[in-house]
Amino acid sequence: MRVYIMTDLEGVAGVLSWHDYGAPEHRYYEIGRELTTLEVSAAVQGCVDAGADEILVVDGHGHGAINQKLLHPAAKLLAGRPMGYPFGCNETFDAAMMIGQHAKSNTDGGHLSHTGSFAVEELTINEVSVGEMGCNMLFTAYFGVPTVLVSGDVAAAEEARALVPNIETVAVKEGLKRGPATGLTGEQNARHNGAAIHLHPDEARRLIRNAAEWALHRLDEIKPFWLEPPYELVSILRRTDQEPRKIARCHSDDLLELLRMPRTYQPMDD
Ligand SMILES: [Zn+2]
Repeated sequence: MRVYIMTDLEGVAGVLSWHDYGAPEHRYYEIGRELTTLEVSAAVQGCVDAGADEILVVDGHGHGAINQKLLHPAAKLLAGRPMGYPFGCNETFDAAMMIGQHAKSNTDGGHLSHTGSFAVEELTINEVSVGEMGCNMLFTAYFGVPTVLVSGDVAAAEEARALVPNIETVAVKEGLKRGPATGLTGEQNARHNGAAIHLHPDEARRLIRNAAEWALHRLDEIKPFWLEPPYELVSILRRTDQEPRKIARCHSDDLLELLRMPRTYQPMDD
């Protein structure tokens, strides 16, 4: 059994903010990498417990968030930039997992929720609102690979179950901020929903290890999230202090081509 694990940093227990943890120049970036890698390693152990014989971990956070010295030895690591769709996925994998996933932009009650960047206000494909999670589920499903486990904050887990009702989820923290982030600038949005109640990292890892094993046992029951072509992708950028919101539309019959397309933004008149 081959397992594909996409990773991110913002949905990891103990990662408290973007401005302290998200990028190399931030004071707790190394702690963020450590916490992320140990959650991912817990998922790898769960996969090993379920009998997986090959596991690929993809370092999906924009600046990278995997510390190779702490990664479970059973996993191979795809890292380095530039990296784009389909992030090393192909039809030889049997299951996909997402560890450290945050909710999409504007999520009520999310923690550090955003879509690609804090500057994106909304992303839809065929009028279905999707975040990074939805896009990841779609490109793995493109190869026939179902996503069987998502870990992240409570809102990310709810977003996963809205797309795939019987998917395994682990919620490792819960954002306190209620209400959407509509109308904020990207900078305001990055500081909008920073408060959260976190599980202890050890407890988060215990839950993730168990859920990864259980998800692989349930593999046959969990169907991929998929949207049928033809596709229209609409992306809306938040206003800045100087400029109004901007919108881009992309069209394709092929999902991977759609996700890879450069986005040309036009000002919105609002
Ligand atoms: Zn990230």
